[in-house]
Amino acid sequence: MKVEIAPEYGHFINGRFVAPQSGEHFESINPATEETLSRLANGSGADVDGAVVAARKAFKRWSRCRAQERAGYLFRIARRIQERARELAVLETVDCGKPIRESRDVDLPLVAQHFFHHAGWCDKLAWAFPGRSPEPLGVCAQVIPWNFPLLMAAWKIAPAIACGNTVVLKPAETTSLTALRLAEILQEVELPPGVVNIITGDGETGRALTEHADVDKVAFTGSTEVGKRIAAACAPTRKRLTLELGGKSPNIIFADAAIDQAVEGVVAGIFFNQGEVCCAGSRVLIEESVLEEVVEKLKRRMKNLRLGDPLDKNTDVGAINSKRQLETIQRYLEIGASEAAKRFDTNCPLPSRGYWCRPTLFTGVQPAATIAREEIFGPVVCTMSFRTAEEAVERANNTNYGLSAGVWTQKGSKALWMARQLKAGVVWCNTFNEFDAASPFGGWKESGFGREGGRAGLLAYLQ
Ligand code: NAD
Ligand code: MN
Repeated sequence: MKVEIAPEYGHFINGRFVAPQSGEHFESINPATEETLSRLANGSGADVDGAVVAARKAFKRWSRCRAQERAGYLFRIARRIQERARELAVLETVDCGKPIRESRDVDLPLVAQHFFHHAGWCDKLAWAFPGRSPEPLGVCAQVIPWNFPLLMAAWKIAPAIACGNTVVLKPAETTSLTALRLAEILQEVELPPGVVNIITGDGETGRALTEHADVDKVAFTGSTEVGKRIAAACAPTRKRLTLELGGKSPNIIFADAAIDQAVEGVVAGIFFNQGEVCCAGSRVLIEESVLEEVVEKLKRRMKNLRLGDPLDKNTDVGAINSKRQLETIQRYLEIGASEAAKRFDTNCPLPSRGYWCRPTLFTGVQPAATIAREEIFGPVVCTMSFRTAEEAVERANNTNYGLSAGVWTQKGSKALWMARQLKAGVVWCNTFNEFDAASPFGGWKESGFGREGGRAGLLAYLQ
């Protein structure tokens, strides 16, 4: 499918595409080919201010709009996303580097589901929070990362506008194209101007937006480092804040697990989206008696992963999103080698252009090792062993993060006991990386606070 991409885009403010006030643009590239896809508006403080003013003005009417009417807009957005899903999936893949099979079968269905789910909440908020009158917060500044560009936009926008808030969204600088296409959909369904505004630009644009004085709520998904900076900047203001940050999630395999399934779960946990997933299962903890079996099966499975053209529907591992991210991953690969862990990679050929990283496994890693503690955000996994369930819990929780965890066992009582012990926002049992708009997602500890999805997610957008 051929997707039209304009050579240049403006910001989406007050229902219209407008040129940046500075006249400055920057390039968005295809990370699999290094080709320039389009030139995007570089958002300045003046652009941000224009968007916040539009959102403030729109809030007056949108917050008082009948709930059924708001629901109608969300339903129509969801339907249009379904109708344009093929085009959006291709665009996501060329801008981001992720395999088309994932953007088509995972990202896009979840994007539509998120709008449908929140459309259903609009006229049930009073029922969901009995005894309270559910009031929106006002203007929401939302900043998102590049790993699930359109899905993160949906996670942010849908609950905010369902609750009667208005939005200024800033997508990540390397992956703004699908958010701008979503803006076209908002025009098609005639969402009132100013309810959702989209400003493109880099971290400076994000800073101008999150520090704008007339913003009531900041919702950020990205690195823990930037999240802490935003929290500090919000502290002396009236702003409400939710943060979705990094992770170093454990995937725990007991000897009584269905081992082949568990190995598939490890692969899905760390190689989905090239491991550029905040909740990636990047630490695999394996019960000692099955350690060798799991590692051997994992290596065999890794050799079958097909790395290459993200638009090929047989591709399992696509391109790394940016040169910067590739360099970060490569730094960790060097650290891993010097930490004396054994290293295995798929040794597959890499395309000559673009940013690529072979799926890589480090075995026999000490819990104190840098690669066992720090988020790599790439297709790199490390394995460790444990002897008892108590030791598994102790090792799994020995991290500053707490976004997700996986448990593989055929014993229900053990799975439930583990779920209670693990300090993580999501615990998956005999599966990994499953998402649902009705299910709250979010972190413990330095993985952030606030939830997205379901009834708990609405609390982030109501007084
Ligand atoms: P990043 O924090 O540098 O960037 C994320 C977004 O924040 C981008 O839109 C960027 O332009 C913007 N930004 C950068 N500096 C800013 C500032 N000072 N003020 C306001 N906005 C600013 O992260 P990254 O390196 O691009 O993305 C990878 C990181 O994101 C990983 O560490 C990963 O764990 C995290 N992440 C977390 C989740 C989650 O749900 N918890 C999801 C995806 C990614
Ligand atoms: Mn891009």
